[in-house]
Amino acid sequence: MKYYSTRDRSVRLDAAEAIEIGLSRDGGLLTPCEIPQIDEAFLDSLVHVRYQERAAKVMALYLTDYTEAELLTFAENAYGPEKYDTEAVAPVRTLDETTHCLELWHGPTSAFKDMALQMLPQLLSAALKKTGEDKTVCILVATSGDTGKAAMEGFADVPQTKIMVFYPKNGVSKVQETQMVTQDGANVGVCAVVGNFDDAQAGVKRIFSDTGIRETLAERGYFLSSANSINWGRILPQVVYYISAYCDLVRDGRIVMGDKVNFCVPTGNFGDILAAYYAKRMGLPVGKLICASNCNDVLTDFLRTGVYDRNRPFHNTMSPSMDILISSNLERLLFDLSGENDAQIREYMDALAQSGRYEVSDAIKAALAEQYWGGFCDEAGTSAAIAKYYKEYGYLIDTHTAVAASVMEQYRAATGDKTPTVFVSTASPYKFCDSVLTAIGETPVGDGVELLDQLHEKTGVAIPRRLAELKGKARRFDLTCEKPGMDKVVLDFLK
Ligand SMILES: *Cc1c(COP(=O)(O)O)cnc(C)c1O
Repeated sequence: MKYYSTRDRSVRLDAAEAIEIGLSRDGGLLTPCEIPQIDEAFLDSLVHVRYQERAAKVMALYLTDYTEAELLTFAENAYGPEKYDTEAVAPVRTLDETTHCLELWHGPTSAFKDMALQMLPQLLSAALKKTGEDKTVCILVATSGDTGKAAMEGFADVPQTKIMVFYPKNGVSKVQETQMVTQDGANVGVCAVVGNFDDAQAGVKRIFSDTGIRETLAERGYFLSSANSINWGRILPQVVYYISAYCDLVRDGRIVMGDKVNFCVPTGNFGDILAAYYAKRMGLPVGKLICASNCNDVLTDFLRTGVYDRNRPFHNTMSPSMDILISSNLERLLFDLSGENDAQIREYMDALAQSGRYEVSDAIKAALAEQYWGGFCDEAGTSAAIAKYYKEYGYLIDTHTAVAASVMEQYRAATGDKTPTVFVSTASPYKFCDSVLTAIGETPVGDGVELLDQLHEKTGVAIPRRLAELKGKARRFDLTCEKPGMDKVVLDFLK
């Protein structure tokens, strides 16, 4: 299977090449030229196998230049007992007859980013061998909090790789920051940027498109790539868990093979919900895709009006991993909905770059309305959802998951749709102790990792091991830069 760019269909790359470069040179996103189809027989064959085998089988449909045996080895490494605290890897928790929660935070950094970032470094290492690349790849990451840590954890001490992470100085939680600045590994670097996530992401994109920097780095034996969800190697491992969740519901008798389910996904950069869309396009029986935003509700407006307009205030919320106004992966969706019309996508993206706004065609609007429903949840609604799920179901959820839970309820109230719905849980509540404690009526005492104990004492929910270990870890990184200084940080890192 080949990959082309959303902004230029004449680009043709193998999967290994697409994963290696991350982003197409024309600024477009690399996307599979066709979407493989699955049927009930395929799904049946996955119902009674382990997550690792499901992952290898689904990924093999897209990564035709990798063998299924190779992919199975990667999946065993990525999702094995040293990394994941549950054998199920991505378990589905049933709350009532039609409400289920897909838990994606059982990996080493307690956020769903691990699902892809434990896999991507292995796909990339293999890609370097397959393509005969001898330079060292330097992964540049802009993070809204979770990607940075998960990427470093995946890439730490992987041969022929280095990784540099930029995070918004006042835009991440205390636990998230502590996780990043204590990261082990000889090939990792971390820097806080004075600004918000969009500033950090714009800075990284600028460095990517700076030919001067690229040439300098090439002379030093490096090339740049991305572990952000613009990389296809990030999206594909996420397609797996939607299919896996469906198989679990069939296995456990919650649905019958062929029944439709809805997915409700807390959304920022649109990677996670895009993966759900690909699962649906492959033939998984999915009804609506419910896109849940926090106060940064650019996607809610877009799904309701067809107008994408980022000209609005940026809000720092208690669900910081969704504090995003430019959702990069929307470009892949629009490409598919436009009938792979690269010229049209270039127009939209040029307009976005120039005026911060574009309006999609009527055909795309109709397709969006058919497949998606968008809603948002403010800060009070987020707290209320945490309190409600804790009280009614004894289920402690984090702030991002709470946004999804709230929007799922809004959707049900607005439409009366009774289809079984899976809302996606993207982080452990222990990553956001402060907000979670407050939501369940406690007064947080202190502001750092000591809150882990307070939340544990109150709720009895186990602290993820790796978060508990943060308490004794020494800070390794203390670098801060202004937006224009990001170039220099990268050049110094790759001396
Ligand atoms: C990254 C993240 C999201 C948003 O996912 P996207 O793929 O960027 O839409 C939601 N919740 C958590 C906890 C995250 O880390």
